[in-house]
Amino acid sequence: VGEPSAQWREYQGAPTGTDIECKGWRQEAALRMLNNNLDPEVGEKPEDLVVYGGTGRAARSWDAYDVILAELRELDDDETLLVQSGKPVGRFRTHERAPRVLIANSNIVGKWDDWEHFHELEAKGLIMYGQMTAGSWAYIGTQGIIQGTYETLAALADEHFAGDLRGKIVVTGGLGGMGGAQPLSVTMNHGVCIAAEVDESRIDRRIETGYCMEKSDDLDEAIENAKQAAEAGEPYSVGVHINAADMLEGMLSRDFVPDVITDQTSAHDELEGYYPSGYTVSEADELRDENPEKYVEESLDTMARHVQGILDIQDAGAIAFEYGNNIRGQVKEHREMEHAFDFPGFVPAYIRPLFCQGKGPFRWAALSGNPEDIHRTDEAVVELFPEKEQLHRWIDLAQEQVEFQGLPSRVCWLGYDTDEDGLTERARFALRINELVADGEIEAPIVVTRDHLDAGSVASPNRETEAMRDGSDAVADWPILNALLNCAAGADIVSVHDGGGVGIGNALHTNNHVVLDGSDLAAEKARRVFTTDPGMGVIRHADAGYDVALDQAEKSNVSIPMRDS
Ligand code: NAD
Repeated sequence: VGEPSAQWREYQGAPTGTDIECKGWRQEAALRMLNNNLDPEVGEKPEDLVVYGGTGRAARSWDAYDVILAELRELDDDETLLVQSGKPVGRFRTHERAPRVLIANSNIVGKWDDWEHFHELEAKGLIMYGQMTAGSWAYIGTQGIIQGTYETLAALADEHFAGDLRGKIVVTGGLGGMGGAQPLSVTMNHGVCIAAEVDESRIDRRIETGYCMEKSDDLDEAIENAKQAAEAGEPYSVGVHINAADMLEGMLSRDFVPDVITDQTSAHDELEGYYPSGYTVSEADELRDENPEKYVEESLDTMARHVQGILDIQDAGAIAFEYGNNIRGQVKEHREMEHAFDFPGFVPAYIRPLFCQGKGPFRWAALSGNPEDIHRTDEAVVELFPEKEQLHRWIDLAQEQVEFQGLPSRVCWLGYDTDEDGLTERARFALRINELVADGEIEAPIVVTRDHLDAGSVASPNRETEAMRDGSDAVADWPILNALLNCAAGADIVSVHDGGGVGIGNALHTNNHVVLDGSDLAAEKARRVFTTDPGMGVIRHADAGYDVALDQAEKSNVSIPMRDS
């Protein structure tokens, strides 16, 4: 990727305040969000352009980064910039209501769509791994996933433990960009978390930012402390400096059975995400450089032991689920472990009913950089939805316990229920924010975006579309339609990626941004985008035959032409 750009060194994160470098706030929002992804406080290895999720990058090279910034500064209010796998490749005059930036990352034609071809193309400098929010400039740090992780664990607690994790021990692995949200999400649900992490600096980072409480090199000590906390009903979390596969075998040999077992190591990428057992991080990094084939073999061997450990702990009585890193798919494919899928993925287990209702991780960032702007949006969401007690609890917890990273941001799962004017929850909220910007109650525009993991924006058979009721798991027309619809509705940035979360060839997914600058144009776009985009979730799941989605469509007047066929 070359030497880090001098501009990046100067920015050290998104520019803030009310003066802009670009010709309009839509272009400025793109420039700020790209730099926010690469804020040393937000991204995992920004000097390599890596934002999170193994090697998820924000731009193909530092040269490409510099040119993207130059293009954004030049871009007129009626022009559209095209970015192909992190490289700016063209700029056209379109119109004011069209997106300002269109992005496609990591997409490969079906027959060639795997890591091997990807790495060949990457070595030739032709493609980049965009993960989900890395290459679409929508990553907001670990705070971006925290509510999703919190909600998933709350749904698990509802189903298995009378609504609370108090006194329960959750065991997991991986304290990276996304996985780092796990300990805090467990303690927010009053539980105890033991997380294996091979890279000590990642544990330190989570402790510094308040996501994890303690660090240990000693598994016995970690288990003992966890048991004591659970018995006392106290929230507690510890990052154990150990390989996850070794930790699970260590727990089994000590007859220690947690209540819940999952994992968020970067198993989707056996070469640059997951660490094989028997090496320190620097030894493994050396092995990767010197002998990548050996690295991959050892990495997959460790993964097979890791999955076997999860299955054995499940057999011993724990609730097990895969947390979206494709570890089951990896060992089934590469180690012919047929029983790898004997524990469920988190989407069919806990999230799908939300997707059926068009609910998903809606998030927004204050382009001013002023935390007060987010506090004003917190008040607005509470005022707008007085009946949503769980949402109020989330806002209180987030204010108390989630530190801002980079541009102050907030995440909420909002849905599709419509009011008397036919406005969805997301649209109502966005319109209210737009008014607050127009009235000057919020200092600068707010950019609203979302994860690619959303109700109608992803096809990923080992994750978001695992075990669909009608067997449509691998049908990728849905995310493509979603991206096209976002352009038609006038989102300001639209992106389409391959391979996020679960690795190249395993998923297609899309994302959008809308800039709320207080203008009538922003209100028009918000009304459309926040109806059509989550609406795709309702029709996608209604088409697959889910009653919850069919009911939501009926309730919210969503037109489904062949609904009874
Ligand atoms: P990351 O690359 O930033 O962090 C992964 C961490 O795992 C690193 O800190 C690494 O040191 C550690 N690790 C790797 N192998 C290990 C091993 N064998 N034992 C212990 N630690 C090990 O990635 P991330 O952004 O945290 O994402 C983690 C995984 O979760 C990815 O596969 C990602 O695609 C997936 N993911 C899930 C969701 C979700 O909603 N569930 C969302 C985003 C990402």
